[in-house]
Amino acid sequence: MARMYGDDLPRVQRRIARWLGSAMDLVYPPQCVACRAALDAELPSRPFCALCRRQLEALRCPACPRCGVTRAASTPACPTCAGQRFRFGQVARLAPYEGAWREVVLRMKHVANEPLAWGVAGLLAEACQEAFAESPPDVVVPIPMFWRRRIVRRISSADVLATAISRRLAKPCALRGLIRQRHTQPQGDLSPRERRANVRGAFRARTPRELWQRRVLLVDDVLTTGATLNETAKVLRQAGATEIQVAVVARTDDPRA
Ligand SMILES: [Zn+2]
Ligand SMILES: [Zn+2]
Repeated sequence: MARMYGDDLPRVQRRIARWLGSAMDLVYPPQCVACRAALDAELPSRPFCALCRRQLEALRCPACPRCGVTRAASTPACPTCAGQRFRFGQVARLAPYEGAWREVVLRMKHVANEPLAWGVAGLLAEACQEAFAESPPDVVVPIPMFWRRRIVRRISSADVLATAISRRLAKPCALRGLIRQRHTQPQGDLSPRERRANVRGAFRARTPRELWQRRVLLVDDVLTTGATLNETAKVLRQAGATEIQVAVVARTDDPRA
């Protein structure tokens, strides 16, 4: 009997989920998370419309697995990161930080666009499953916001991304594994040297027990110089993490980065 229930349960759950999904579609007809165009329930591009998905896919291209800048897989050495030392290992990114992806990343920061954030998070989670298939992380940790900014924003793209990735990879997510213990200037206005100084000592590992002897996947929306990721990777290593991987939605290809 128990066995029968065990075998049937997923099927029943699937049927209920399908039924609930169709009922929800009647009440809230599905919309593209980016442009809000009405969507067909069975559209393969969901949660994006075919046009938005095409625009986003058009910009995706291979990247350097070490620093995330656009680079053909056939190019032997990456001019951007050659000679640079990072405290993190493999980087997975979806696209360069330009055009439709830049717009998407900026819009994800607003709470009104939370469905868009989850839509993009789904794409990044898919990419992570592929990129880290050989060496999956033990725990997923988002780059944190300072608490004051978090209250004002009411959404953290990094939290949404990390949550979606952890669900997809079936690995725990330590949402408060790291904390930003002081306010930092937005990195975009600073030179690479100023960026490093800006984030030095700004982070603390809050739950070292969850990080000890773990391979950690650090998640953020954008990677520019890598100053924030380097600093947080250092803190995680000090807390006992053995290896740091990185997942970002977009990476700037700016040669100064
Ligand atoms: Zn759309
Ligand atoms: Zn590189």
